[in-house]
Amino acid sequence: MEKTCFFISFLIYRCDDFVVNDTKLGLVQKVREHLQNLENSAFTADRHRKRKLLENSSLNSKLLKVNGSTNALCATGLRNLGNTCFMNAILQSLSNIQQFCCYFKELPAVELRNGKTAGRRTYHTRSQGDNNVSLVEEFRKTLCALWQGSQTAFSPESLFYVVWKIMPNFRGYQQQDAHEFMRYLLDHLHLELQGGFNGVSRSVILQENSGLSASNKCCINGASTIVTAIFGGILQNEVNCLICGTESRKFDPFLDLSLDIPSQFRNKRTKNQENGPMCTLRDCLRSFTDLEELDETELYMCHKCKKKQKSTKKFWIQKLPKVLCLHLKRFHWTEYLRNKVDTYVEFPLRDLDMKCYLLEPENSGPESCRYDLAAVVVHHGSGVGSGHYTAYATHEGRWFHFNDSTVTLTDEETVVKAKAYILFYVDRQAKSGSDKL
Ligand SMILES: [Zn+2]
Repeated sequence: MEKTCFFISFLIYRCDDFVVNDTKLGLVQKVREHLQNLENSAFTADRHRKRKLLENSSLNSKLLKVNGSTNALCATGLRNLGNTCFMNAILQSLSNIQQFCCYFKELPAVELRNGKTAGRRTYHTRSQGDNNVSLVEEFRKTLCALWQGSQTAFSPESLFYVVWKIMPNFRGYQQQDAHEFMRYLLDHLHLELQGGFNGVSRSVILQENSGLSASNKCCINGASTIVTAIFGGILQNEVNCLICGTESRKFDPFLDLSLDIPSQFRNKRTKNQENGPMCTLRDCLRSFTDLEELDETELYMCHKCKKKQKSTKKFWIQKLPKVLCLHLKRFHWTEYLRNKVDTYVEFPLRDLDMKCYLLEPENSGPESCRYDLAAVVVHHGSGVGSGHYTAYATHEGRWFHFNDSTVTLTDEETVVKAKAYILFYVDRQAKSGSDKL
């Protein structure tokens, strides 16, 4: 029912946009009036009926039209504090990864965490040795501020202050790489959560509260936290000496996978080439997991040959994470500057099957390797030090576009056209599991 109401209201807003806006431009208005007159009376009557319906359900309606755009009342934007769209796009994406976001939102506020020493900050931070700031606490506050139905954008100043304090490379107001920021953010959240509080290890709390079993844990630098439990996967890195054939295997934990856009798709296409094959996410995943002969510059120390030799490398996914974060390497260093690969990469909104990249696919259930898209970060513009970041994310079945302080409702057709930079895919099993909780 809510879905139907929403759909009707969306239609009406579109109609209203057509009549009401752009009054400053007389000419546009005249054309609009003319077109409006062409609409037949049956349609008008239908509209009145729909409007009545909408008025009756106005309390339920989560949409508000502001300045002609369909704004999403339930979603809260994030103010840009001076080129901080890289941070906003990541925060909005993470805020729509329910399992991850809920964990933080359910944490008690810092002041309430210890009854005996109420009012005093007892939160232990191991990573930065500064007990006056807590990234976890500021992150928690920011997530709580989003999706509260506030019409005014939230200003993430205090979070940004902590980011400046503990991640010096993000100081200043230059444009930053959103992917780099996400990695720093997740790493620091992980480290701080590992520190625990009140003498109780956070990893114990995680096990008790979220029902995540020990087998789901992926340990990066020790104990598991919500960060590794959600984003942690394991790669098997297989290197073969091309001279003696000795194979060496290494397990590498990961929080995200950085995928190259294959070179044949990297050049900007001219009109004549437009009909050529389109680059897909599968192409990028395949090039990541394909057998690769390492360059002369990357010789591998073979323990049998006892010297550096030419080798091949292959990645397998040993364990898939609950949320698969895929970063498309759009920025490449040339001699003097970082160039952007602006190629469109086709990606699925639902049912990304990762089974074929698994080391032991036979050990996984039929539903365990399938993912649906939860959010996507997009970089607009040409260079890493310039341009603008926005994010698309899905919330309760609707897609939203997060552009700093502006949040607008959008649709699947728009999302699939985006030139993705970071994609967040949620495991279908984990999703249905969290729905049940
Ligand atoms: Zn060898």
